[in-house]
Amino acid sequence: MQSPFYAQNPVRTWVDDMLKVYNTLSRSKEEFEPLEGNHVRMYVCGPTVYDYPHIGNARSFAVFDTIRRYLEYSGYRVTYITNFTDVDDKMIDRANREGISVPELAAKFITEYRKIANELNLKPATINPRATEHIDDMIEMTELIIKNGLGYAVHGDVYFDVSEYESYGILSGISPDELSSGARVEVDSKKQDPRDFALWKAEKPGEPSWESPWGKGRPGWHAECSAMGKHFLGVPFDIHGGGQDLIFPHHENEIAQSAGAYGVETPVKYWLHNGFLTIDKDKMSKSEGNFFTAREVLDNFDHQAVRLFLVSGHYRQPLDYNTDALNQATQTVERIRNAVDTLRGRLLILERGQVDSTESDSILSEAIDTLREGFEREMNDDFNTPGALAELFTFIKVVNTHTSKISKPVVVRKALATMISLVNILGIDLSETSTGADKSESKELLKGTIELLLELREKARESKDWDTADMIRDQLGELGVTINDTKDGPTWKIK
Ligand code: AMP
Ligand code: ZN
Repeated sequence: MQSPFYAQNPVRTWVDDMLKVYNTLSRSKEEFEPLEGNHVRMYVCGPTVYDYPHIGNARSFAVFDTIRRYLEYSGYRVTYITNFTDVDDKMIDRANREGISVPELAAKFITEYRKIANELNLKPATINPRATEHIDDMIEMTELIIKNGLGYAVHGDVYFDVSEYESYGILSGISPDELSSGARVEVDSKKQDPRDFALWKAEKPGEPSWESPWGKGRPGWHAECSAMGKHFLGVPFDIHGGGQDLIFPHHENEIAQSAGAYGVETPVKYWLHNGFLTIDKDKMSKSEGNFFTAREVLDNFDHQAVRLFLVSGHYRQPLDYNTDALNQATQTVERIRNAVDTLRGRLLILERGQVDSTESDSILSEAIDTLREGFEREMNDDFNTPGALAELFTFIKVVNTHTSKISKPVVVRKALATMISLVNILGIDLSETSTGADKSESKELLKGTIELLLELREKARESKDWDTADMIRDQLGELGVTINDTKDGPTWKIK
């Protein structure tokens, strides 16, 4: 099927097959169709800003940035919301330990997050709402849940009444029996049922709090994403993303809350979850202490290589972090840059003059189409980035074999534009000069041109054609090249 959106993207052709995404809710791959025409409304659970994110968190950010970029490449308009959790137990503990306020702690780590986001080439979100800016929305949602008979207040706390909501477990597949055993839920004597979860928590001394119909307090964590998702995207919206650790209880509870407040079966059409970044096969996490911060990894490796590493595996599979993997990603980025530099260098040569046509022109031309089709086919299969990268490497082999025999600049330009636009989906930015190979190429060209002009000037002087000799000197002077006639011949320099 021809995509109706191809015309919006000048360098793409069209997608033959539909995009399919794995929906955690249906446990199957589904054809992707936004709820509202061409507009994709997407919400991704963002960082709790109490500390530096670890490189596992960064995987989640990079994965959903790539998904967003592919949707945009496919012609969709994407509204992308990702929040900052700026009040919770971890924030309060850390702020107390550092002797600063919770807002001061949040401000510090939001700044750190933005630096990291920039280095990882994450596109800025449409909006980064902070939980504390939406307390009113959370209170309103909680009131609706109580009004609809799915929540109850007790001594300043408010809980969601799981026994009144029969679809609980719809996302995670966790059975009510398993939950009732209390093994996976917080034990709290105020709850009517161990499965119930907090929508609002009564104020405790020394904690930030807000006025509410139930007295001063603060919202439960799950409330924030439901309320902010509804505020910015409405209900239901298209995509909700986060790590697999958020399936239960966070996203399960979000579904329950939205059902309770807004009467929807699910607030989201497609639930997408990334696999874990692991160390020796164990999930990287702060609580286990087996983590590297995104900051230290970015300080030690090429930023583009870090980004490539984070999207090099399929997003739903685990990805093991180790130095070898990062070194390999560094080499891979070099391979991509070298191919781009080779194409840029060839373009400069072809712009100097005509070259006889060869069969390499049609070989590279065909390879460009094969690359684009293959890349799109793989990305349409639930964002299969390793498959898309394999297509890219097949193409790079053709570039390395044939570029020196290409005669048509238009083919080289198309190869460059295609490569740059496709790797950009993965968050790799090649638009700027990278290794400098093309810079040295143009320097050589400039030097050769100036020396040729000086030779012509010498010839003009030998034949006493002073007008031509002066014209060359004056015109070079206007371009900033000064000539100094010495007894050993003319020398030049650029001002
Ligand atoms: P947090 O700051 O803990 O709320 O986490 C931010 C995002 O990182 C969430 O989507 C988590 O699910 C995700 N996440 C946490 N640990 C990992 C990990 N080891 N690998 C991949 N994603 C993770
Ligand atoms: Zn969330």
